[in-house]
Amino acid sequence: MAGRVADLRTRIAGHAPGRNVELVAVTKGFGPDAVLAAAAAGCTMVGENYAQEARAKLAAAGDVGVRLHFIGNLQSNKVRQLAPIVDVWESIDRPSLLGEVAKRRPGATVLVQVNAAGEAGKGGCRPEAVADLVREALDLGLDVDGLMAVGPTSGEPGATRRAFELTRSLTSELDLPTCSMGMSHDLEIALECGATRVRIGTALFGERH
Ligand SMILES: *Cc1c(COP(=O)(O)O)cnc(C)c1O
Repeated sequence: MAGRVADLRTRIAGHAPGRNVELVAVTKGFGPDAVLAAAAAGCTMVGENYAQEARAKLAAAGDVGVRLHFIGNLQSNKVRQLAPIVDVWESIDRPSLLGEVAKRRPGATVLVQVNAAGEAGKGGCRPEAVADLVREALDLGLDVDGLMAVGPTSGEPGATRRAFELTRSLTSELDLPTCSMGMSHDLEIALECGATRVRIGTALFGERH
């Protein structure tokens, strides 16, 4: 695991020279061991997509000093059970979620997820709606750290680059520090477009089954 993290850091550094890029180790699909291994390898952020899975896993892993980033499609009725364990809510994409997070975890750190490629049925708000959501989050007393995006499912490089460039420019326009984009298969493009945080599962833990 330490070797995989080191390889990944090298890969990141090659595409973001001189920049400090944060790494979220995405442990979804793997057991508590993955959280322990990530922590032992120096990762301080882990990412999870599903409420039930995250709760069980984090409880089993115990307090190993990692912060949990929730990155999956979030339903309002899951916020209450997630509130005690989630440190950063990366997949906020509608006002109802903001209200619920503000109520259950006042002052929480959130990212607004943007559907930058405009794909139907995908998480994230429309790019035109990002500014209003950010304003609303701030009005509710939340700590808005940045924007999050998932590249287009096709993985087509041109479309991926356009989506990430849009996400990067929205982040800059809104003067937010964090631009969370890039997964195992589109890491390089995300970094070239200015990601400050990448979320990596497969390249660290292998294929999910
Ligand atoms: C699963 C997931 C990742 C990690 O994807 P890999 O391809 O395994 O690196 C990152 N971000 C989100 C939102 C995910 O759902």
